[in-house]
Amino acid sequence: ERMISADVQEEEETIENQLRPQLLSQYIGQKKVKNNLKVFIEAAKLRNEALDHVLLYGPPGLGKTTLATIIAHEMNVSIKTTSGPAIERPGDLAAILTSLEPGDVLFIDEIHRLNRVVEEVLYPAMEDFCLDIVIGKGPTARSVRLDLPPFTLIGATTRAGLLSSPLRDRFGVLSRLDYYTTEDLKKIVSRTAEIYQMDIGETASEELARRSRGTPRIANRLLRRVRDFAQVQGFSQIDFDLAIDALERLQVDRLGLDHIDHKLLKGIIEKFRGGPVGLDTIAATIGEEAHTIEDVYEPYLLQIGFLQRTPRGRVVTHKVYEHFQMEVPD
Ligand code: ATP
Repeated sequence: ERMISADVQEEEETIENQLRPQLLSQYIGQKKVKNNLKVFIEAAKLRNEALDHVLLYGPPGLGKTTLATIIAHEMNVSIKTTSGPAIERPGDLAAILTSLEPGDVLFIDEIHRLNRVVEEVLYPAMEDFCLDIVIGKGPTARSVRLDLPPFTLIGATTRAGLLSSPLRDRFGVLSRLDYYTTEDLKKIVSRTAEIYQMDIGETASEELARRSRGTPRIANRLLRRVRDFAQVQGFSQIDFDLAIDALERLQVDRLGLDHIDHKLLKGIIEKFRGGPVGLDTIAATIGEEAHTIEDVYEPYLLQIGFLQRTPRGRVVTHKVYEHFQMEVPD
């Protein structure tokens, strides 16, 4: 598994739950999203109503699940958590919906992976707080309408565009999470260090933040691994040199790139003179699947302006040559 993967890794789930902030005021960064949510939560509370349905979208590891738990906490309600692929049949969804208390939050992660049939049961539930269920089969079958308590659906997805438009249109609040700034990630690293009762220097936290690809999940993971190095070497404080040494050993470079990023970028430079080169050709050259490159490797490289997508294929930018201290070709 890649050290800098934004996806949650085995055994990380419990660790992450312990690190989740509980209140909006403890949630670092994402100012716009936070400020808006604060108003919507306050207004819903004043009216004594359930909060409108919320869609959270953005790359993995940026804090969608965390935000959902915070919303429930701020609204003083319970949260039930599930995911798109886990709800296989309409009956599964009906069972969850009928178990909700008034005002509760239902969190559906990967909501874009709900199947069509289940999605259609969700529409009236979201809109009118009711369920249309069919009882019996054949000529005696009849449709019964069940009332549900008012609830808040919070959906999470990596891209809002993956949702069907009828589903997307039923969310009253759409919030996009962005990659974090180094400054915000530094605060997250310091907060986590405090929870772990670790002593870490300012410059060391900043270096970890800089190498975390804008993603809190990666920042926290890097911090845990650096803590391992410190502990084994018998250091009680993590200073800049120790952090750098550990990060080098973890093969995470000063922009948070690892050997796979290097292989991809250097492959385009060395074999295709920097591009343009088609995705399938790159995939064949470096021995990876095209869709893995597109979904996993590329987004961050595009985000930091190392790669560009052109109609004729991928091109590396001058920033890559500078990063590798290579001469920029004419
Ligand atoms: P995925 O969709 O892949 O599950 P996610 O967007 O739901 O990812 P979370 O699980 O909420 O991400 O966050 C990952 C970790 O980062 C958690 O341990 C959480 O504590 C931490 N984290 C995320 N956002 C923040 C934040 N704004 N402040 C402090 N910690 C954060």
